Amino acid sequence: MNLRLFNTPHRQIEQFTSQEPGKVKLYTCGPTVYDYLHVGNWAAYVYWDTLVRVLKADGYEVERVMNITDVGHLVSDGDEGEDKLEKGAKREGKTAWDIAKFYGDDFIAGMQHLNLLTPEHVTKATDYIEQQLELIRRLKDKGYTYQIDDGIYFDTSKFPAYANFAGLDLDAQRAGARVAYNDEKRNPSDFALWKFTPADEKRDMEWETPLDLLNNNESQLENPQSKPPTTNHRPPIMGFPGWHLECSAMAMDILGDTLDIHTGGIDHIPVHHTNEIAQSEAVSGKTFSHYWLHNNHLKVDGTKISKSLGNGFTLDDLAQKGFSPLDYRMFVLQGHYMSEGNFTFDNLAAAQNRLAHWRNVAALRHQTHQGLESSDEMDPSPAAIGAIKEALNDNLNTPEALRIVDETFNYVQSHSIQKVNRHTLVELIEAIDELLGLDLLHTTPDISDDQKQLIIERERARDQKNWEKSDKLRDALAKDKIVVRDTQNGTVWEYQ
Ligand code: AMP
Ligand code: ZN
Repeated sequence: MNLRLFNTPHRQIEQFTSQEPGKVKLYTCGPTVYDYLHVGNWAAYVYWDTLVRVLKADGYEVERVMNITDVGHLVSDGDEGEDKLEKGAKREGKTAWDIAKFYGDDFIAGMQHLNLLTPEHVTKATDYIEQQLELIRRLKDKGYTYQIDDGIYFDTSKFPAYANFAGLDLDAQRAGARVAYNDEKRNPSDFALWKFTPADEKRDMEWETPLDLLNNNESQLENPQSKPPTTNHRPPIMGFPGWHLECSAMAMDILGDTLDIHTGGIDHIPVHHTNEIAQSEAVSGKTFSHYWLHNNHLKVDGTKISKSLGNGFTLDDLAQKGFSPLDYRMFVLQGHYMSEGNFTFDNLAAAQNRLAHWRNVAALRHQTHQGLESSDEMDPSPAAIGAIKEALNDNLNTPEALRIVDETFNYVQSHSIQKVNRHTLVELIEAIDELLGLDLLHTTPDISDDQKQLIIERERARDQKNWEKSDKLRDALAKDKIVVRDTQNGTVWEYQ
C-alpha cells in the first residue's frame, strides 16, 4: 500500500518510505505518570495505535518504543517549577516512586482496556539514567553544554537549525523573555539536560551527577588553581534528567540514531520535540527522525482540558456514566488526528450507538448459513476492505474509514440474511478489527441453543398468529438482553 503521512517539519503530506525495506522504527512520546490519564491523553494513544495497525496491515514489521516519563517533567513543561512526579507525591502523601508505579500500572491497564497494541518497548525514564548521562557527556565533549547554578544546559545557539522544526522566531523569544526566564541561561531557548537538586530540597528521585560532567571548578575543588565554585553545591551534586533528554536517550539507545517516525501531540512541537531534535542531531550528526506526526488536541465542551476546570475525564469517569473504553475508542476514531476534537457526552453517546450497531452487524455472522454458494449470494468484503485500507493510508483518515464501514454494513443489512456469505462477512469483521481495534469479533458472541430455540418457537407462534405466545417468547428473550427484529428480510436477533 501507498502510505501518505503529514510530515510536520515540511508541513505537507508525503509518501512514506522506511529506511530499511519492510521495517519501521517508531517512537511515541508516552505519558507523564503523575495522575490518571484524561480523555485527551488517551485520544493521542488511540491515534498512534491506529498508525501502528496501518503500518502492520501494509506489511511492515514495526519496532516501537514508548516511554513512560516518571521523572523530570516539570509543571511548566520548561525548566522551571516543580517536577510533576514529586508534586503528585506530595499531593498523595506517597513517594514519587510509588506515584510512578501506581499511575504507570494504571496506564498499562488502560491501554489494554482500549485495546491498544503493546509497543515492543515500554521504557521508564528512570531505567535509562546511565544512557541520559552518557548523552550529556557526548554533548559536553562536543561543546554544546554549559553549567549554571541550577543545572547543565544545552546551548541552542550552537545548533543553527534549532528554529527550523517549529518555525520559531528566536529574536522575538529573546525580546519577550521576562520573569520566568532564568537569566543565567545564555539564550531563552536553552534547556536543561540535567537539573541539580536545589540545596534545600530532598527529592525522592535523584542521582549523583558524575564529576566529569561538571565544570572543572566543581570536579577539581582540591585544585588550588581552580576558581571558586559558581554554585553553592559541593560534590556529590545530586540531580535529575530533563524531560527532553529522556526521549532522545531512550529512542537512540533502542532504535539507533535515526528513527523512521516519531509521534507526539502538537504541544510537543515548539519545545519538547525541537529540543529532542537539537540534542540528538548535535550528538549524532544525523537526522533524528524522517517523519514527525502530531495529533491535534481534544477539547471538552469546547474548552481546553485543565485540572482546574475538572474537565479532564478519565476512563473511570466514563465507565461510571455507562461508557466502555471501546465506546471511547470509537469516539476518537470518528475524528481525524489532525483536527481539533470536541468531547461531549452526547458525542460519546453517538459513538456508543454506532459501535452497538456495528456489533449487531457482526452478530449476523451467527445467523447466516455456512458455505452458502448461490448465484445471488451477497459478498460484502473484498472491495470494502480495500477501501477502508486506502482511507487509512491517506494520512490516517479514520472518519472516512468509518463511513465506508457504515456504508458496507448498511448494504449487508439491506439483504436477506440468507444471502449473506458468512465467510466473507467474517473476513470483513476481522479486517476492521485489525485496522480499527474495536474488537468486534470478541464482543459479539453467539446466543445459546436454548435462546435460538425460543426464536424458532416465536416464529412458529407468529405463523400461527398466536400473538400472545409470540409476545411472551419475545419477553423471555428480552430478559436475556436479546431483541428480535422482524425486518423485510426476515427475523434477526440483536443485542439489546
Ligand atoms: P503528558 O502526560 O502531559 O506528557 O501527555 C501525554 C500525551 O497526551 C502527550 O502526547 C500530549 O501531547 C497528549 N495530550 C495532552 N493533552 C491532550 C489533549 N487535550 N488532546 C490530545 N492529546 C493531548
Ligand atoms: Zn518525548
